[in-house]
Amino acid sequence: MRIILLGAPGAGKGTQAAVISKKLGTPHIATGDLFRAALGQGTDLGNKAKAYMDKGELVPDDITVAMVLERIALDDAQTGYILDGFPRTVNQGVALDQALEKNGESIDMAILVDVSDAELVKRLSGRSICRTCQTPYHSVNNPPKETGVCDLDGGELYQRDDDKAETVINRLQVYSNETAPLIQFFESQSKLVRINGEQDISVVEKQLLDIIETK
Ligand code: ADP
Ligand code: ADP
Repeated sequence: MRIILLGAPGAGKGTQAAVISKKLGTPHIATGDLFRAALGQGTDLGNKAKAYMDKGELVPDDITVAMVLERIALDDAQTGYILDGFPRTVNQGVALDQALEKNGESIDMAILVDVSDAELVKRLSGRSICRTCQTPYHSVNNPPKETGVCDLDGGELYQRDDDKAETVINRLQVYSNETAPLIQFFESQSKLVRINGEQDISVVEKQLLDIIETK
């Protein structure tokens, strides 16, 4: 199944994508994780993306689309994937549809994880992620077993620079201007499913799995 997780920064896309990915046995492809990994490796792509990420702006569509198309062409993505953080503009959505259409493929559903701005700010300010596997934690809502250490691989947890207050405001604005129009885009394709992302992590998880299983 080809699933898109749509939602503002901090909505819980990464947290939930990891669960769905495990359940379906299809890869979790998060564009933010791919950019951060490229940056960590000091590649050209990473260095280009950094300037935009630091400001909370979007990386240009051509760079982002090329990276995603390359990723979904890999063997492990042939039976499906969970896209997290992509598409983030209507242009990216159109480019993805066109590329899939060439192979006779299409997106099965876009799930919008809906969370209010006030809650998003609280989530982003308390978020830390693993330097190695990028799993997200929250100081209050979802703390690791041992402070500062990833439960999954023992990696060091850190706060992303772009989760600091001044960048968060801009990211939420960018979401509302550039990404929110995708809600209408997927609605017009009858692919949009909404989920209340303000419920407990385990409740959101159960509802998501129900939606996917009944598809
Ligand atoms: P979050 O999980 O908080 O929504 P991400 O990790 O998805 O944040 O993204 C971090 C940054 O990476 C974004 O602010 C943006 O600069 C860049 N980015 C990620 N995905 C995209 C995309 N699809 N298009 C353009 N830029 C992106
Ligand atoms: P996104 O990938 O959409 O930016 P994350 O999955 O990284 O969001 O979650 C953002 C923060 O909110 C993390 O610190 C995470 O632990 C926390 N979080 C995720 N889902 C929930 C939830 N349903 N309730 C409370 N906190 C949550």
